[in-house]
Amino acid sequence: MLGGIFMESVKLKIQSETEDKYELLYLDGVTTWVHKSLIRDNHITIIDNQVEVSDYLFRSFFSSYVAKLKHEERIKESEKTFAYLERIPFLIENLDLIRKNKEYYHLYFDRFRIGHYVVFRAGLGGLLESYKLETRLTGTCEITNQKYYIFSGTGSPFSGSGTLTAYCVGCDDLHSISVGTFSTYMGEFKQIQAFCPPRKNEEAKKQLRLELNF
Ligand SMILES: [Zn+2]
Repeated sequence: MLGGIFMESVKLKIQSETEDKYELLYLDGVTTWVHKSLIRDNHITIIDNQVEVSDYLFRSFFSSYVAKLKHEERIKESEKTFAYLERIPFLIENLDLIRKNKEYYHLYFDRFRIGHYVVFRAGLGGLLESYKLETRLTGTCEITNQKYYIFSGTGSPFSGSGTLTAYCVGCDDLHSISVGTFSTYMGEFKQIQAFCPPRKNEEAKKQLRLELNF
């Protein structure tokens, strides 16, 4: 996903070249230098001074640009939903402060939900408690060996299978996890919801951000 759009391929203009590199141009003024062998080895033909590259290659050529967009998108998303996924480890560290303020503890995140016919939501504090205790809502990424935190999921409590979405600290990305025992995860959310029901409170969100300086 780039800026919310999935692209199968991307057309890039060759802006200039040196003996061994091309300068590729994407949209208005976003350029990057790539080694000519990368174009050749990926069997990309140059037509009218343009190349068409796969979404995958685009991401690797323009990795810093893609990272910047991803970051901007995340900020926008965070402001909209207060789902500061990348802040989860930081918030766990500050759990004591969150525990002291009921409004913080029960803060509502609209992306934190699990269920299908019945949706369970949980307040910030409750989720952080669960993450801190390393319950089944946390796990270790096979690629980076770092922690991930499950924050949403959908599936059938009857067939048992479901898909969970987790934020992975090491990859700084979301992972989809298929499970055969969906109800156990739903049960965890349900339990958290029982002792930490979420409440919408825009003022408390702002206040917490100010207090923790993020
Ligand atoms: Zn990962």
